[in-house]
Amino acid sequence: MIELINKLEKNRTLTLDEYETLIVGRNEEYARILAEKAFETKQKIYGNSVFIRGLIEISNYCKNDCLYCGIRRSNRKCERYRLTKEQILSCCDEGYPLGFRTFVLQGGEDSHFTDDFICSVVEEIKRRYPDCAVTLSLGERSRESYRRLFDSGADRYLLRHETADKEHYEKLHPANLSFDNRMECLKNLKDIGFQTGCGFMVGSPCQTAQTLAKDLKFVETFKPEMCGIGPFIPHRDTPFAEETAGSVELTCYLLSIVRLMLPSVLLPSTTALGTADGFGREKGILAGANVVMPNLSPWDVKGKYELYNNKLTGGAEAAQNKAELEQRMESIGCKIVTDRGDFIKI
Ligand code: SAM
Repeated sequence: MIELINKLEKNRTLTLDEYETLIVGRNEEYARILAEKAFETKQKIYGNSVFIRGLIEISNYCKNDCLYCGIRRSNRKCERYRLTKEQILSCCDEGYPLGFRTFVLQGGEDSHFTDDFICSVVEEIKRRYPDCAVTLSLGERSRESYRRLFDSGADRYLLRHETADKEHYEKLHPANLSFDNRMECLKNLKDIGFQTGCGFMVGSPCQTAQTLAKDLKFVETFKPEMCGIGPFIPHRDTPFAEETAGSVELTCYLLSIVRLMLPSVLLPSTTALGTADGFGREKGILAGANVVMPNLSPWDVKGKYELYNNKLTGGAEAAQNKAELEQRMESIGCKIVTDRGDFIKI
């Protein structure tokens, strides 16, 4: 195991079998060694800075029916909302003085959000705040649509691949969603020039060490600028209501591996990690993550974007409570910075 960890650190690549061995053979001691190396690698590139992103959840309408997701189309209990352009812009107006220099517009696949609409919002954010980056996370769209969004000024796009194993993908999604299309979308985003984020849930139903090894190999070869990794957490009104949540410990272990394979990747310590464990965000940062994404959505909709049970909305999760997040980061020797926090190419 130690040889594998050293090999990963030195070569930034392992075989599929080696990734699987690293996952299956993990223990506390190896996790500690990996985390120390990952944290050190992150320190060399980004120092003790933690980048913040203001997350604006622009709609919970979704035409998709992903089996794990609380805002899936078939969840009749989900109280739907959609922000107007003015509401989205007010979130940015609130976030800028708080120190946010990246705004992330995330939502379900809501057909109301035409290219014209999103482009006009991005253009207005860029006009008001030319020193800010805009990240979009609006699911699968055509190449032409991605091109238009990029041309309107959007800098980054997050689209988790969810799992790099086609059969596993089909167990998590309805038949009308295709693994090949998801992968095609990711390729298109990168080709067009977005700083692109892929990612996956840890502990999703039917996941194995083998499918996780495929995720790691995919991340290694795709070389995303960002990678979102968080534990799966069940939602009571989905087909996966009774499934077990993913582990915080394995999530952190995988964050460390990804940091070692892609030293300058932008790696969030996710809300799901903070939800699964009161100290989850700090654990993620100590394992090599360097981004947190507090929620800037209006207070009256914060609770409605419920992807999984008990998703955090208050405390350090709320952008408005940045001081609490600052304190938490300082308690582990890190510092929130006012910065766009772009990917550093090395
Ligand atoms: N619609 C966009 C998309 O498909 O990329 C963005 C919104 S989607 C709700 C954002 C992410 O939430 C998904 O990529 C998924 O990994 C995560 N997610 C959904 N349900 C979850 C759950 N039950 N537990 C943990 N993460 C979940």
